[in-house]
Amino acid sequence: MQNRTNMTVHANEFMESHAKIPEIKFIKLFINGEFVDALSGKRFESIDPRTEEVIANIAEGDKEDIDLAVKAAREAFDLGPWPRLPGRERRRIMLKFADLIDENLEELAALDTIDAGKLYNMNKILDIPGAAETIRYFAGAADKIHGETLKMSRELQAYTLSEPVGVVGHIIPWNFPSTMFAMKVGPSLAAGCTVVVKPAEQTPLSALFYAHLAKRAGIPNGVLNVVTGYGHTAGAAITSHMDIDMVSFTGSTEVGRLVMQAAASSNLKPVSLELGGKSPFIVFDDVDVDKVADLALQGILFNKGEICVAGSRVFVQQGIYDKFIIKLAEKAKTWVVGDPFHPNVRQGPQVDKKQYEKILSYIDIGKKEGATLLYGGKPYDRKGYYIEPTIFVNVTDDMTIAKEEIFGPVMSVLKFKSVEEVIKRANGTKYGLAAGIMTDNLNTANTVSRSIRAGVVWINCYFAFDNDLPYGGYKMSGFGRDCGLESLHKYLQVKSVATPIYNSPWL
Ligand code: ADP
Repeated sequence: MQNRTNMTVHANEFMESHAKIPEIKFIKLFINGEFVDALSGKRFESIDPRTEEVIANIAEGDKEDIDLAVKAAREAFDLGPWPRLPGRERRRIMLKFADLIDENLEELAALDTIDAGKLYNMNKILDIPGAAETIRYFAGAADKIHGETLKMSRELQAYTLSEPVGVVGHIIPWNFPSTMFAMKVGPSLAAGCTVVVKPAEQTPLSALFYAHLAKRAGIPNGVLNVVTGYGHTAGAAITSHMDIDMVSFTGSTEVGRLVMQAAASSNLKPVSLELGGKSPFIVFDDVDVDKVADLALQGILFNKGEICVAGSRVFVQQGIYDKFIIKLAEKAKTWVVGDPFHPNVRQGPQVDKKQYEKILSYIDIGKKEGATLLYGGKPYDRKGYYIEPTIFVNVTDDMTIAKEEIFGPVMSVLKFKSVEEVIKRANGTKYGLAAGIMTDNLNTANTVSRSIRAGVVWINCYFAFDNDLPYGGYKMSGFGRDCGLESLHKYLQVKSVATPIYNSPWL
């Protein structure tokens, strides 16, 4: 089914692709500048979600491999050049790293497609160049890290130093393997930290490729280590490690809790947690229905709904509710599902079988609890983890699909009357990651944006990410920010230095 650009395509017509997949070059752990097997010799299978077939057997790191990686990172931090380099040197090396990412764009894009089922074209225009740009953004900060001179109330001269926090463990999820890698590694390297990265077991390929590029760029051995493996083994070994100074984690709220517990019961390392969400996308009566229905659909279907800020609860004001849901259904019909290598496809397979089954079970629950299925709701009868874009209407706040994070292409539409009501209902969730507010009324936008308890609020747009925009959660969506200079600061700690101005008798 090729070359259908000008035809109306229905979502349930599947688009095939015959793209050539890349050769997998890196399958081993990257520790102290070398690719090595896991000490146990074990491997785990990386599965292509398009075909359910094995793409590669990847080294399965465990506690003892994490120990080796931490030892390398510790030595590189305590004795090596990286934290001691002038900032401009770290900047130069990181800029080279970013250039190498750009040079290898197509290969990296293809790796994230076969690993995560992400759209190849989107990886080429967004994820991979975005990762390079994030590394550049933080490279530019590497030589602008300063403390403060303090005006003291006694006869003391004092200042603060901004020092790197030390060895950082990064545990990253599978939905944006490249973006997450850059968002975590970029600021921590710029700060002068050394790192141990554990990519998600579903998507280990691009992280290993980035490790290879980092070495080529001149990042010294031991500064950047990548240990592939499972969360409950390799991941848990990071969170409880006595020689890791900080953990930055993005993933589910349940695992976030485990990360915090392990940090508390080991060396009290600080943690930064970016967790789940059930974000409200609020549509007021005064909007352009056509335009906003498009945005609402993208808000839940982008990256097949596997995005923590997905606008999964769409609140629509009663005056336009009926018109809006008709538009949503019309537009969902043109949303093309298929092989993510095909240029016309907008939605590929879910990342793995577990996620696929979880989403389908939520769809069942939605039906059983009485929500009206407006569109989709079925898996594709073929190999691969493909699910139709799915829209439930007449959803009520107490339904499971309105409360729990589904992390899939499943929208819940809810009706509301007033501003006060929607603020209360939008905040009626344990999460607080993001919110969208669609209105031309400035007063409404101001009132709602200030009343929503979420880390990011988008007004008349959605997914407006930027390296400058700090990003993270309120409530059980976590704490700590990625992106923005806030994220650089989380990898720095403040040392206060004081000295007498003259020989004061009481000092
Ligand atoms: P999801 O449920 O969406 O797969 P997770 O929160 O389980 O998301 O996974 C996010 C990351 O956390 C992955 O890299 C995973 O391997 C890791 N992880 C899972 N369990 C643990 C754990 N107990 N300790 C540390 N990391 C973990």
